[in-house]
Amino acid sequence: MNFNCVFPECNFKQNNIEEEEFLKHLREEHQNELADVAKKEKIPIAMAEMITVSNSKVFINS
Ligand SMILES: [Zn+2]
Repeated sequence: MNFNCVFPECNFKQNNIEEEEFLKHLREEHQNELADVAKKEKIPIAMAEMITVSNSKVFINS
């Protein structure tokens, strides 16, 4: 799986990593952003993580 972190000020980009590894990046680097998203959207942090993971996935059609 390829990931390109959705947070605009972050340039984390990695190919062929597991979702777990990207999740680790989110938890290490974006705790505050995730908490903000969860608060703003009134959703649990786990759900904010899931949404961020799916928005950061890069699908290559070639
Ligand atoms: Zn990031």
